[in-house]
Amino acid sequence: MSKVFREALAAVNPTHVPERWVYAAYDQCTFAVGPLADADPARTGVLLVECPGKPARRPYHKQKLALILANLRHFALELAQAGYHVRWRVADSYRDAVAALIDEVGSVTMMEAAERELREELQPLVDAGGLRVVANATWCTTDADFDTLGAPPWRMDAFYRGVRRRTGVLMEGGKPVGGRFSHDGDNREPWRGEPAAPAIPTFTPDAVTREVAALVDSAFPDHPGAVDLLHLPACQEDAEALWRWAKASCLPSFGPYEDALSRTESNLFHTRVSAVMHLGRILPRRAVDEVCALDVPINSREGFVRQVLGWREYVRHVHRKSPDMAGSPNVLGQRTPLPPVFWGGAPSGLACLDGVVEDVWREGFSHHITRLMVLSNTAQLLDVDPRELTDWFWVAYIDAYDWVVEPNVLGMATFAVGDRMTTKPYVAGSGYVHRMGDYCAPCRFHPKKSCPLTPMYWAYLARHRESLSGVDRAVRQLLGLDRRSETQRAADRRTYERVREALGRGEALEP
Ligand SMILES: Cc1cc2nc3c(=O)[nH]c(=O)nc-3n(C[C@H](O)[C@H](O)[C@H](O)COP(=O)(O)OP(=O)(O)OC[C@H]3O[C@@H](n4cnc5c(N)ncnc54)[C@H](O)[C@@H]3O)c2cc1C
Ligand code: SF4
Repeated sequence: MSKVFREALAAVNPTHVPERWVYAAYDQCTFAVGPLADADPARTGVLLVECPGKPARRPYHKQKLALILANLRHFALELAQAGYHVRWRVADSYRDAVAALIDEVGSVTMMEAAERELREELQPLVDAGGLRVVANATWCTTDADFDTLGAPPWRMDAFYRGVRRRTGVLMEGGKPVGGRFSHDGDNREPWRGEPAAPAIPTFTPDAVTREVAALVDSAFPDHPGAVDLLHLPACQEDAEALWRWAKASCLPSFGPYEDALSRTESNLFHTRVSAVMHLGRILPRRAVDEVCALDVPINSREGFVRQVLGWREYVRHVHRKSPDMAGSPNVLGQRTPLPPVFWGGAPSGLACLDGVVEDVWREGFSHHITRLMVLSNTAQLLDVDPRELTDWFWVAYIDAYDWVVEPNVLGMATFAVGDRMTTKPYVAGSGYVHRMGDYCAPCRFHPKKSCPLTPMYWAYLARHRESLSGVDRAVRQLLGLDRRSETQRAADRRTYERVREALGRGEALEP
């Protein structure tokens, strides 16, 4: 299903014979930086590859498939309109498509792929000399920025401070604007309904996007989720609209409610820019500069800058330096299979988990705190296999790629690689969700009396006590565990086993 797209491309595609060729990967939808920015469009050809083999590798959410293909097809049109000659190829592997062009024209240039999977697939073409790889200019930092951290364990804060100093972002006279590098301490407010959270932006799909949706539905009918055209940013114009919305409606309250959760407002004040940023639509450095120039409180500006210039860059460096993340690191030896509740349709009876899972399958998205403190936390307390959890996040979220999902899940959320990139496992009982959100009110469990998450938290600490005993930041948690009686610990263990077995069978829990 590509008639509409092919006709649209043919109508605008310049006919010049290119003198040089660039291959742009599926997540490099930009000609603002990199080899295309330096090229004369009238002499340049761009290869774009639609690869049905890639979505067939994993059961990706349909919205994610539609997001990537719609953006790639619109990027083809945008390139052609800007004067580049576009060659669109449908192939079962990226390597075959690029190799065929190299055979024909001799040499092709590309910006280094962000995903390990694509780098590895194309490496033989690099080794053979036909594919020339240049630095990926969409990143804000270099290997040298990260290498200042030395050997692991690495810490995001040290990386972030170094990058702020080097780039001068939010710096004045060598000092951080606002007097501190981090305003995290000001950004821990629960949200109680005020100020009102902005409505998530909507877009008007054109014929090219509608054709992509039909293709996804017919070619991948068994993939989970559904295409939601209204919420699909499909082209540069849509990405710009989303970004304008983020700056005007989210940034003013971004900082204070960064760590909050809401049952009724799935997004709160998060920008939702990750999906289009990872596709090259909104470049991270541009986003950082524009947010720094906004007239909004420093804790919101710095909070956003820390996420993009700090976390986003940090995780991609960690990923590059962690080849074991391609496999199944598992320092805590967690082996529970991911329970059916995560795939939807088998409610657990835990209002927070069921609510977030519903959001994920509806939107292909949920914000950071729901990922960390609900989904990953519950999985941690159940001892879910970290690789299985990572692969779930990878297929369920529209912004998941190996370079970002593996460090976030294996490295940060599950502690599967130990303290390499974070100081301790992110685990909690019911306290966090109760304090920072409103899920508990309608839940059949009482957060302080019957919620199973709290005994499961103690049972988790008891099971992993030995592995965590050398982790400085876990000391306080382990001291708390020491104060629990044998009877309490036995009850904690029974709760863990009961919940694990019930959820494993796909059954809802009863208080
Ligand atoms: C278990 C778990 C899994 C995650 N998986 C992914 C993933 O697959 N893809 C992904 O993009 N993010 C992932 N994150 C990080 C974070 O949750 C998302 O980047 C964020 O929720 C995206 O929504 P947003 O654009 O509204 O972010 P905002 O809250 O508006 O933040 C702005 C931007 O900061 C960047 N950012 C913030 N935190 C991180 C981080 N930890 N790592 C990388 N970039 C960050 C993103 O580009 C994001 O768009 C994960 C976090 C956890 C805890
Ligand atoms: S009571 Fe427990 S399970 Fe229910 S919403 Fe609160 S934290 Fe989640």
